[in-house]
Amino acid sequence: MRLGQLAVHPLIDGYAVMEPVDLFADVTPDELRRENLLNADGLLEFPYGGFLVLGPEERIVLIDVGAGPDPDFFPFTAPRHGLLPAALSGHGVAAEDVTDVVLTHLHADHIGWATVKSDVHFSRARHHVHGEDWRHYTQGGTYPAIRAHLAPLTDRMHLWEGPGTELFPWLSLRAAPGHTPGSAVAVLHSGQERLVLVGDVLHTPAELRQPHWHGTDDWDPDKAVAQRQTWRAYCRENDAPLAGPHFPGMHPVHADD
Ligand SMILES: [Zn+2]
Repeated sequence: MRLGQLAVHPLIDGYAVMEPVDLFADVTPDELRRENLLNADGLLEFPYGGFLVLGPEERIVLIDVGAGPDPDFFPFTAPRHGLLPAALSGHGVAAEDVTDVVLTHLHADHIGWATVKSDVHFSRARHHVHGEDWRHYTQGGTYPAIRAHLAPLTDRMHLWEGPGTELFPWLSLRAAPGHTPGSAVAVLHSGQERLVLVGDVLHTPAELRQPHWHGTDDWDPDKAVAQRQTWRAYCRENDAPLAGPHFPGMHPVHADD
């Protein structure tokens, strides 16, 4: 989609298949079925990936980078995986052309292509993540696989702190702790137009109607609910569409939908 001078393209890296309880802690299958979230086998199936933003001054930004080439890194990877590089080259972009990688948070399905076999995959890019997530996932021994995966980025990661930062006049990052301690939302601007990339503040557009659903993986479930309500209100007030890497087709939706 276009947003003034920005072009925004979803890059689907693969599809996850999981039991409902792996995503939603307290939602019955009937409620999920009413929102059309279950496939014929009673499972959740949704994409993961990142957004490509082609900005002014030849800025090429990725917002999240899927689960990567190793099907064992993200436990819910289905047969279709590792698709992000082909999706990127479909837009005429090679890995070394990427100028900035924004990680909304450090779960496996958002950081997969950040490194491949201990090499930084987007070799010339600046990488950005909130410091709270970096410290939570890479310090201490709780998340050894994520820590090892991100280790090659240690000296070159730009950690931002506090409630928000403006990476470019057309791209703000806002702290949205709840799903993880340093979860972030990326807001793209062009004039009065905005597009809100919510990361995993919402996994499905259904959560616009059901913001109180608790996510199994939410670090602080109550804060996660509050973030969904905050960003739903923001999108309504600003008439801004929102999109996340797990939305159907990664397509934007309106908060009033
Ligand atoms: Zn995710």
